Amino acid sequence: AESFNAAVAASKALNAYTVVTPEDALAAADAADKAKGSGDLPLLAGIPLGIKDLFATRGVDTTAGSNILKGFRPPYESTVTANLRKAGAGMLGKLNMDEFAMGSSNETSAYGPVISPWRRKDSNVGLTPGGSSGGSAAAVAAGIAPGVTGTDTGGSIRQPAAFVGICGIKPTYGRCSRWGVVAFASSLDQAGPMAKTVRDCAILLEAMAGFDPKDSTSLDLKVPQWEANLSSDLRGKRVGIPKEYRIDGVPAEINALWDRGIEWLKDAGATPVEISLPHTKYALPTYYIIAPAEASSNLARYDGVRYGLRVEGVKSLDDMYAATRAAGFGAEVKRRIMIGTYVLSAGFYDAYFTKAQKVRALIKQDFRKAFEQCDVILTPTAPSAAFGIGETTDPLAMYLNDVFAVPASLAGLPAMSVPGGLDGQGLPLGLHLIGNELDEQTVLNAGLAVE
Ligand code: GLN
Repeated sequence: AESFNAAVAASKALNAYTVVTPEDALAAADAADKAKGSGDLPLLAGIPLGIKDLFATRGVDTTAGSNILKGFRPPYESTVTANLRKAGAGMLGKLNMDEFAMGSSNETSAYGPVISPWRRKDSNVGLTPGGSSGGSAAAVAAGIAPGVTGTDTGGSIRQPAAFVGICGIKPTYGRCSRWGVVAFASSLDQAGPMAKTVRDCAILLEAMAGFDPKDSTSLDLKVPQWEANLSSDLRGKRVGIPKEYRIDGVPAEINALWDRGIEWLKDAGATPVEISLPHTKYALPTYYIIAPAEASSNLARYDGVRYGLRVEGVKSLDDMYAATRAAGFGAEVKRRIMIGTYVLSAGFYDAYFTKAQKVRALIKQDFRKAFEQCDVILTPTAPSAAFGIGETTDPLAMYLNDVFAVPASLAGLPAMSVPGGLDGQGLPLGLHLIGNELDEQTVLNAGLAVE
């Protein structure tokens, strides 16, 4: 109880949790205690985990960081969290996040920003933990959750993991069921774990993943034994270094880290090869058409009738929709809905949405060709270290932070961030490993080699 209270105090300072559920975590611990000695304990027996507030948790507030869902208690449990429970895990609470997972800094949350436990050497300004899984990242970095769930649509597991110096993996699209995960952009959304080590991520991912008939894009495949097959021996493996990722304006420190990463993989027996991903420069604009388009459609369901907030005292049903959505959604979510409805509108559909789908196919093809020449790709995770809260006010500048993360999302490929070192301000920087479809194992093994 004492350490739990200390953790609650620490978590309040970080604003990492939106709800805490100690009784749930303790129940799982008790169940594990009772099961001791009675044969095989399940994989996560008694392990308390933090759950991003995007996952529906039965009877526990699930708000996706939005005012429009405040007070929503789902009568059902997401498949991923149900899988974790089946493996014996308990829940510490729900973790703060960018509203509907839209953001790269956790500043769009209706609960206010999460404050990273890290500080720059020369100043005490509060830093963002990245986003959208900012609460998840901060909780692990601060040691108030041994492992957490995140979701990644265009980097939301990997960029926050990099900003706080932890590991996080987004598996191949379809590995983890999206059932019961509040939808942002359905063709991109994937759940994944975040934890201090590559091994912990492998263990958590094994528990989270698996076929689910309730998600039509779920992959009907057996979950591999990633943890048992972990090995940092990379002899015979080729590491692709995409020349198009040498982007202007990326700090020298980050490029230096990237070079160190190449050396570490060489030390582990791998051979670096230069590869080309020629459509990389279109990935960001493509993502910022497709993700808002899908979001504008997915968010149509928040109309004041079905869930959460309803603004009363209006004259008509249409007024109720409008007033509810105006009051319930934050500025970034409204921006995405407007971009999304614009690119899907009759006059612009072909120019934007259809074009973006075509470019997405080319980006996928780039990777397909690249994986004929290499087994895993190494890049930096983000073009900067963590920035200060309130420092990045221009939405386009914020979107640019996703530049290294979104191509793997558009291609549905597994990708992981592992801590690479510290910058001159003593802040963590991440290395990013992208694997071929279904090849989480090589990603994890390469992660183990650089960790
Ligand atoms: N930062 C990106 C966005 O704002 C990615 C978010 C995510 O992966 N959920 O859309």
